[in-house]
Formats: sequence, structure tokens, C-alpha cells
Amino acid sequence: MAKLYFKYGNGKSADLCQTAYNYGESDHNVIVMNADDNKEIISKYQNDDGTYPLRRNINMEVGSELFERIYDYNKIIPVSCVLVDNSQFLSTENAEDLFFVVNTLGIDVIVYGDRTLKGGETSPGSMRVMELANNIEEIDREFSKSLSRISGAKLEFYTGAMNSSKTAKLLYILREMEAAGLNVFLMRPSKDRDATKVTSRIGMQAEADFIIDENTKIYGEGEYLLAKHINYILVDEAQFLNIGQINELRRIVNDFNIPIRCYGLKVDFLGYHFPGSGRLLELSDSLVKLKTICTCGKGAGFNARIDSHGNFVTSGSQVEIDNGGNYISICPECFIRNVMYDKVPAKVRSKVLK
Ligand SMILES: [Zn+2]
Repeated sequence: MAKLYFKYGNGKSADLCQTAYNYGESDHNVIVMNADDNKEIISKYQNDDGTYPLRRNINMEVGSELFERIYDYNKIIPVSCVLVDNSQFLSTENAEDLFFVVNTLGIDVIVYGDRTLKGGETSPGSMRVMELANNIEEIDREFSKSLSRISGAKLEFYTGAMNSSKTAKLLYILREMEAAGLNVFLMRPSKDRDATKVTSRIGMQAEADFIIDENTKIYGEGEYLLAKHINYILVDEAQFLNIGQINELRRIVNDFNIPIRCYGLKVDFLGYHFPGSGRLLELSDSLVKLKTICTCGKGAGFNARIDSHGNFVTSGSQVEIDNGGNYISICPECFIRNVMYDKVPAKVRSKVLK
């Protein structure tokens, strides 16, 4: 099954050039694009003689009608992979076109880029790719970890669709940490069911140490956490935190050297990030994907909202608390067919309907 990959971190252009080279060596065709409008992708890797060996000319421009152009190209020269550099300059339409290339044409797409713009602001293109991607990976993560200024403490985001046992996994690791003698501080937002407890569907439960409402300033708790010798912070339903609160978690990790692991949904029932999950996609040191399965048997990364008649809901407010039957986990192809159908490019609509 074809996948949409998002890769960030050091060595993006080098990874792209090497991947394109490897496809060529095995007689497979690739499309190479650069969203920053340069006609060539050049890695900063330099040989001792001053030459730059890792370089690649683009063979398609990013722009409007991207899906249609890839579709037509693929008809003449079958394509094994589409490689795109500088995702931070893609439009959200470009990102959606690439998602359709993966899931209607069956072509792998690897998108390279920074998670945010230079100043740290959200890049609509990178964000849309992260929302829709099967996999989000940091290139050579072990190396960047070893270089990291913060050696121990990290901000981690464990994310998956509904029914990926996020809360169960959180509660299990909580008990493991406590058994290992760690002093763990458990936080959760006030939204959702029984707000003072963290509860999994299967019946596991723990009392939260701290409830976050929309006005809570989390960073102010830092001194208290230090005084209490807190070793680890766990956050359930982190998608419901606001952007400022995720920024505060980031500062707690950096300033107090306390590791924080957040659990939460990546996207809502229409495939868009929540405030908290979007900021975590941009700021966390590591992203861990929790798996679950669609009714068709493929891996599910999306959530769909279902009405009382079992029909897919395609509009409405972002938050509607799960009553145990109004959400299902769903794979990209089933999500396209049932929720994103209006956006499917005309050329492949008949194929999606089957
Ligand atoms: Zn499916």
C-alpha cells in the first residue's frame, strides 16, 4: 500500500537526492519537485575538493493542478515515487493533491520540509501534510538526539486515531513508571467525560493530579513540580490543550528538565488538527504513532463521526464528545470515499466510487 511520508530534520536534501538516485539505479521513475521554486535541489554536503555531489534537477514544478499533472505524467511514464522538498512553501491544495496521488494512484510520496516557518509560525503546507501523512519521521533522529542541548528531558507526542488505546497505554506506562520508583504527575484537560479521572475504554483508571481548563497557566506549576521532585509528566487528551499551553509544556521541558509525554488525537473527524495536536506536531522532540485498524483491515489514521443512523457526518463542530458509538477509526482510502469525496480530483472520481 502506498504511503504519504513527511520527513523533517537535518539532511533533508541529502536524503531526497540519495532516494531519487536509488530509485533510478533500480530503473524506477521518480518525480522530483521543489516548493521553494529552485530548479535544482542541492545538499550542503561538500566533498574535500569543494564539490557538491548530492544534487538533483527537478522534473516538475509545484503549482496549480498538481494532481492532474502528476496523473498525466504517470500515464506516459509510470512513476514509483514523488519526492518534494521544502514543504513549508506548499499550499494546502498542493498537500491534498499529494494525498490523493498516494491514495488514488497508489504512488508513494515523500515530502521533506520544516515543520514550521523560519520564525516558528505555522506553515499551512507542512501542517496539511502532517495531518494527512501516514508517517512523520525525523531524519537521523538518533544523531540529532545526541546533539541535543537537552540530553534527558524530551517533549513526546504519542498520537493515533480513536481506539488506538492511547489512554490505556498512558495508564499502563504510569503504573510501570511508579513501580520503577518515579514520581509521575498526571494531567488532563477538563473537557470530556469524568474530568477528574483518566479513564480508558477497557476500564483502567487513575485520578488526575492536575486538571487543565482553557485559562490554566501550566508553566506556573514548574516550581511546584520541582519542589515535589516530579520525574515525569503525562498528559492525556492533549489535543484539547490550546497552543499557548503546549508552548508552556515545551518551556517546562527546556527550563526544568522534566520530560513530558502527551497522548492525544492527531486530527478531528474532518482530518484537521486540533489546537493542541497541531502545536505538538510542530514542537515535540519525538512523534510516536499508535496503530489501529480500519473496518477494511488497513491501518487507520483518521477518525470519522457517525450519526445515529450510521451515516458519515461531514460537517459540524470540531469537538463532540464520544458517547461510545459516534466515532470510528478509518484508513485514508475509506476516509476519502466517505468524508473527503467532494475534494477528490475529477479524473479519479469514478475509481474512488467503486
Ligand atoms: Zn479502510
